[in-house]
Amino acid sequence: MLTETKTCSLCGFPKPLTDFYKNCKAKDGHTSRCKACAQLASEDSRMKNPERIKAYHQNRSDTRRESEYLIKPPENLARAMAVIVKVVKHWRDHDPVKFTEFKNQFKERAV
Ligand SMILES: [Zn+2]
Repeated sequence: MLTETKTCSLCGFPKPLTDFYKNCKAKDGHTSRCKACAQLASEDSRMKNPERIKAYHQNRSDTRRESEYLIKPPENLARAMAVIVKVVKHWRDHDPVKFTEFKNQFKERAV
């Protein structure tokens, strides 16, 4: 009886198909790595995971802190914004050139 073999993409050894996990998404119905390599790879990623999870949460808390700051600006910043809005409204009604300048600046900063 002929045993089908497949070359493992990781260790490069030809091994019988029974040495590969089944994968319905793969062309031949088996993973490209042999069972031994797949086990090693999963252990490896598990070892790396704590760091990755930590980094992920750190990034998330940083973004949260930033968005909270944007939603609740300090009082003086809110007051400064009110002054800017007043000035911009004045420009819009009386000084269209300055108003356009401001709009262009704002666009550049937003990008
Ligand atoms: Zn292998």
